[in-house]
Amino acid sequence: MDLPEEATCHFCHKVLYGGRSDRKFCNDTCRNAYNRNRRKAEAAYVSESQQELIIRVLKRNYRILEKFNPLHQYSVIADRTEMHGLGFFFNYFTGCEQLADGTLRYFCFEHYWEEREYGLVELGVDESKLEVVYDL
Ligand SMILES: [Zn+2]
Repeated sequence: MDLPEEATCHFCHKVLYGGRSDRKFCNDTCRNAYNRNRRKAEAAYVSESQQELIIRVLKRNYRILEKFNPLHQYSVIADRTEMHGLGFFFNYFTGCEQLADGTLRYFCFEHYWEEREYGLVELGVDESKLEVVYDL
């Protein structure tokens, strides 16, 4: 014998008795909880696309560092403004280390840069920074 499918609450999944045939929730508590969860899920989706945006910024930073230091040399001097003009964001990096002399070395994967005077940066490469990724 086929029974008509029982309507259940979208939030707690209890069977709904009575009320309008298009009823979706037991009460306002379940309705509010359901809407709260949905908003939370939507917020998580937005933050995921923001993560993708940051990953794009890091990849562009990487391409610019490759352009300025294609042979992966040490002590390559570059102009901060020129890098910024190509779309480099100095506040996005994959790691940061303080050297013995206090200098901050910012990493974008194996590439790094250090701030120098007169709007210049010194570029270099530390291939060991890639090994960390393989240890995960
Ligand atoms: Zn319910």
